[in-house]
Amino acid sequence: MENEEEKLPLSYISQYGYCPRRAALLMNQQLWQENEYTAEGRAQHQRVHDGRVEHRGDQLKLYEFSVWSNELMLSGKCDCVEAVKQPDGASLPEQEGRFRLFPIEYKHGRMRHEPEYEMQLCAQAICLEEMYGVSIPEGALFFIDVHQRLAVSFSEDLRRRTRQTAEALWLCFREKALPPAKESPKCKKCSLREPCMPGLSRSAREYCRGLLDELKEGAP
Ligand code: SF4
Repeated sequence: MENEEEKLPLSYISQYGYCPRRAALLMNQQLWQENEYTAEGRAQHQRVHDGRVEHRGDQLKLYEFSVWSNELMLSGKCDCVEAVKQPDGASLPEQEGRFRLFPIEYKHGRMRHEPEYEMQLCAQAICLEEMYGVSIPEGALFFIDVHQRLAVSFSEDLRRRTRQTAEALWLCFREKALPPAKESPKCKKCSLREPCMPGLSRSAREYCRGLLDELKEGAP
């Protein structure tokens, strides 16, 4: 049973892996801006997120499957969990029999290795393992545009990085931190580039913030 303790959205693992400042802007400052990349990804995910269950012989496909972990203190949804009958597998609600579980996360664009996608998928596997008391050795990223799967093995190294990222995410949330901007090629695709201002030096950013504070203080 999920305990009532507060949890952070599991997808923030991917945001934090992409850029800790981006995760902090989303999580601690509730900033969100759409760009062509986020709009395309959201539209493609909406086609997946319909909560249906497909039966194909001994296999089930559970779309938009809710998961949580008390260990990681995260909750969210798997885009799809493939479940194949296996005698010592997981017992799923409203389904007869036991199943081997295989999480799949949908992504847009060309097929590529992105450490943050792999950590997000691994966090989903850790959730499923905790919820159903099973072991999940691998899952896959499915790249929608090219209809290709990239297998992801949940190695000890990936699990360690996922747990460390969940801890760092929680620390960032508790401290209401805003990590400094580090301009990189990732900034070009980042929808939060405008409010983040990665090209500004720290002193210029603090100067602008000071001006804004003065304006707020002077406001009637
Ligand atoms: S613009 Fe760059 S530094 Fe700023 S949040 Fe996005 S990726 Fe991070």
